[in-house]
Amino acid sequence: VNLVAALRARLGEVAVLSDATDLAPFLVDWRGRYRGDALALVQPASTDEVAAAVTLCAEAGASIVAQGGNTGLCGGATPAVGGRSVILSLRRMNRVLAVDRDNNTMTVEAGCLLADAQAAAHAADRLFALSLAAEGSCTIGGNIATNAGGVHVVRYGTMRDLVLGLEAVLPDGRVFDGLRGLRKDNTGYDLKQLFIGSEGTLGVVTRAVLKLHPLPTRRAVAWLGLASPAAAVGVLGELQSAFGPRLAAFELLSRPVLDVLFRQFPEARDPLPGMAWAALVEFEDVGVGAGPAGEPLVAAVESRLNALVEAGRLDDAVIAQTHTQAERLWWLREHVPEAEKREGVAIKHDIALPVSSVPDFVESAGAALQQAFPGCEVLAFGHLGDGNLHYNVRHGDPAHNPALLLQQDAVNRIVYDHVKARGGSISAEHGIGQLKRDLLPDYKSAVEIQLMQRIRAAVDPQGIMNPGKLTGPR
Ligand SMILES: Cc1cc2nc3c(=O)[nH]c(=O)nc-3n(C[C@H](O)[C@H](O)[C@H](O)COP(=O)(O)OP(=O)(O)OC[C@H]3O[C@@H](n4cnc5c(N)ncnc54)[C@H](O)[C@@H]3O)c2cc1C
Repeated sequence: VNLVAALRARLGEVAVLSDATDLAPFLVDWRGRYRGDALALVQPASTDEVAAAVTLCAEAGASIVAQGGNTGLCGGATPAVGGRSVILSLRRMNRVLAVDRDNNTMTVEAGCLLADAQAAAHAADRLFALSLAAEGSCTIGGNIATNAGGVHVVRYGTMRDLVLGLEAVLPDGRVFDGLRGLRKDNTGYDLKQLFIGSEGTLGVVTRAVLKLHPLPTRRAVAWLGLASPAAAVGVLGELQSAFGPRLAAFELLSRPVLDVLFRQFPEARDPLPGMAWAALVEFEDVGVGAGPAGEPLVAAVESRLNALVEAGRLDDAVIAQTHTQAERLWWLREHVPEAEKREGVAIKHDIALPVSSVPDFVESAGAALQQAFPGCEVLAFGHLGDGNLHYNVRHGDPAHNPALLLQQDAVNRIVYDHVKARGGSISAEHGIGQLKRDLLPDYKSAVEIQLMQRIRAAVDPQGIMNPGKLTGPR
């Protein structure tokens, strides 16, 4: 029986697209780097329909590529070229099913947009703490499958820390039911963790129970001027000692990144012109607080930052006095990816290091790159509070950039070898997908890779779940 016809018969005509024009947007990744082919795109409306679609694909030996908002940055949601793939889009399963205020949880379908989950939590006077620039387009299922990070990891952790339970359809069509809202459950292996960060290779996540937090009642946002990454790490430690979990973000930006930002958005204003490095820091408070809204936290931040400036630990600082000023500072940080995109192509890296190793890494990797590729320029920014840098390399002279891009493998090697030497990771928050699949064996131990492959083979013996992603052929 024809698979597409069987899927239509089971799920209905409108749920199955196979026309080339309809499929086109789903066959290319967000950065336009990967393109693939698919027999069809199916859009189930329930867990039962996902299970039925997966069963039909398994019987036909077709592979399944789960897709949420298609905002992933490693080509994980793009099917292979030429193969027999079916894209399983969760877009129709986009509901918030329940908010349990007393349990501080919400239950959502996997296709729920991150922004919609945040809004539903907010409406119940709670916070769903994952926050990233693609939140209007990415889905909870995609966030789970990539173990997404974002700007508040220093305070709330990654997606892994925000998921209490989940449900997933396995490659043979059975349903894994771990949809529990428990903070304690010592009944053996914590199997839901396997699906978090699995990039669609073990099953299709269909529903999740998410952890909620109290809604912050006060925020303070400041822009810091710093001499070096070492100074930034020192200030980060001081602020963590002083504010503990009230430090909610610590985002580092290098001068070349700021130059790109203000060149591409000339209407924006540099809060502290001329600083070698800058950091955007956010603090938040919950509860009734000690005085009129805004005052205690902002005053405490102000006095701590002043003391750091006086001690010579910090070059300068400005504190947002109004909500609008705070929004403007965040606007600067959030527009870095767009400014870089407008400037043209760079060789991008999303790396994680022990926070204490960041200064040494920036110095040594920068020097090694300069020696190997004189005139290259590093655009480094990211979530210093988590030791996560977006470390992008291009040539300082656009005319020479195409030649540098041809040296991508050699550039990667230098960057990743410096990461490995410091016990870091070649993927902090974006995942592996197709982009880093072949690099993984060089930067993860053979035992770890073998264990991942064995788990994958045990859960998906037919090898139909997102083949060609994350790990290589067995
Ligand atoms: C402007 C921009 C900013 C970004 N900022 C950040 C950031 O700060 N931090 C960060 O971590 N990421 C960031 N990202 C990357 C991206 O948004 C995240 O990886 C996001 O979690 C992907 O969600 P998605 O729904 O778009 O997933 P998709 O792109 O559709 O899929 C990503 C992977 O998950 C799998 N998948 C999707 N849904 C399911 C499911 N239901 N079950 C099983 N597997 C599934 C896919 O097969 C694929 O392997 C950014 C992206 C953009 C475009």
